[in-house]
Amino acid sequence: MAERILVLGAGFGGLELSTILSETFGDDAGVTLIDAGDAFVFGYSKLDVMFGHAEPDAVRLPYADFAKPGVQFLHETITEIDPEARRVTTDVGVHEADVLVVALGADYDFEATPGLVEADNEFYSVRGAEHLREVLPTFTQGTAIVGVCGAPFKCPPAPSEAALLLHDYLTERGLRGDCEITLVMPFSTPIPPSPDTSAALLEAFAERGIEFVAEHRVVSLDASRRVVALDDGTELSYDLFLGVPKHRAPNVVLESGMAVDGFIPVDSQTLATEFPGVYAVGDVATVGVPKAGVFAEGAARVVAEEIIASRRGDDQPEGYGGRASYYVEFGAGLVGRVDVDFFSGRKLTGTFRTPSLEIAAEKKHFGASRRARWFDR
Ligand SMILES: Cc1cc2nc3c(=O)[nH]c(=O)nc-3n(C[C@H](O)[C@H](O)[C@H](O)COP(=O)(O)OP(=O)(O)OC[C@H]3O[C@@H](n4cnc5c(N)ncnc54)[C@H](O)[C@@H]3O)c2cc1C
Repeated sequence: MAERILVLGAGFGGLELSTILSETFGDDAGVTLIDAGDAFVFGYSKLDVMFGHAEPDAVRLPYADFAKPGVQFLHETITEIDPEARRVTTDVGVHEADVLVVALGADYDFEATPGLVEADNEFYSVRGAEHLREVLPTFTQGTAIVGVCGAPFKCPPAPSEAALLLHDYLTERGLRGDCEITLVMPFSTPIPPSPDTSAALLEAFAERGIEFVAEHRVVSLDASRRVVALDDGTELSYDLFLGVPKHRAPNVVLESGMAVDGFIPVDSQTLATEFPGVYAVGDVATVGVPKAGVFAEGAARVVAEEIIASRRGDDQPEGYGGRASYYVEFGAGLVGRVDVDFFSGRKLTGTFRTPSLEIAAEKKHFGASRRARWFDR
């Protein structure tokens, strides 16, 4: 019987892995890809939707368009994972695998931050971004807080990007003089792996009068008093809160017994879990790299190469390098880039590329190339 590869989650990791296996083996790929959603949305599209730069429907990439030889897409919700038996139960049925790849991303633990649900102002989910799109026009004066509720969180630059894009949004409406912007982050600098990027961001904040509160996180909100509490007990008043919820693996992963401290530990070179034939890629795993689509994609490529090599009887490929380039919105249409390499053994310092229109065009191409590759659009 042909090898059965079950890929859980059709995000950056699952889409890339399935695409490579389809390209390599065609109709014989033997991949089943499962996702509870009916469309993929790039993480950064949430910022576009929130600030009114894109329509919600325009950023949805329906899985109906993900048509690859040898890949069966199932729109099902996974309810149980048995990593020892490599058996997965969904709301529709049971699926057995020879190779199981968990790519279910990071979920949000709203309950971990009392008051966050009541405040209803997070921008990390599609629903949250669409909701804030309606809320933002009602903010005309006072203090906006972009607040992170816990680390690790997806896309470390995103809170800084949100603060800078909010500055633009208010400036364009002639409201910036009536508003304060504060950014609360649990790191000492905006992007710790890249001191140059952090310095550029801090300079951008200073130029725009954005206050950066380092090494703190938001632990609770009181929506009736419009106050957030930080981890040292300090209270900050807000008129608009843009929140980043605490993250953890989806419940089905936590209940499977695979997670330790909220995520699945893996070998950072092979992405293998402690269970034979079971891998975890992307945000759901603890790898030693930031939680970002570009890293999920890179990890998926390594697992694909391992599957291909073992099917062909070739030597196992070189391990995961933890290399990626990610884009950082600086506002005014300018985008910077960080090139980072986590596992090369050299001293870790992400190289910063100065924000420019050229890099903004490169980011557009990044999105367009994935749309074309995965969704044939
Ligand atoms: C505001 C914001 C901006 C961002 N900007 C960038 C950026 O510029 N660059 C970048 O690289 N990254 C960015 N990211 C991060 C990026 O979106 C994620 O890191 C990336 O999507 C992770 O990929 P993944 O494959 O691990 O998981 P995801 O892409 O999250 O995919 C996981 C999939 O699993 C599915 N799933 C979960 N539970 C179940 C279940 N029980 N049953 C069935 N299916 C399930 C989900 O529906 C989802 O489709 C951003 C994120 C945010 C929130």
